[in-house]
Amino acid sequence: MHELAITQGIVNFALEEAAKRGAEKVTALTVSVGALSGIVPDCIETYFALVAEGTPAEGAKLTFRRIPAKVRCADCGAESELPDFRLRCPACTSRKVELLSGREAYIESMEIEEKE
Ligand SMILES: [Zn+2]
Repeated sequence: MHELAITQGIVNFALEEAAKRGAEKVTALTVSVGALSGIVPDCIETYFALVAEGTPAEGAKLTFRRIPAKVRCADCGAESELPDFRLRCPACTSRKVELLSGREAYIESMEIEEKE
């Protein structure tokens, strides 16, 4: 995934939501970023300034929350957080694991300013 495309998605979503709620301005956004998503929050911030320029989301404060990578093991049934980027069960080292979280990136919450 590319940060610019992701940032555009974030901005579009924020603007749509703001319009739906009749907001004048988006003041803050909390973005959840999965540990395995490959997304660099610094890049998002840089692109955000460009993409949001001239829109109601311009100047919104960005906060990033890191979502840990979690797997469920098919062999021992354990659900664990991955301590590193190797896709295997931390409990029994089996490779038959299913990724439960860690790939996603999405807007967790946003703050808006209503029209007076
Ligand atoms: Zn296991």
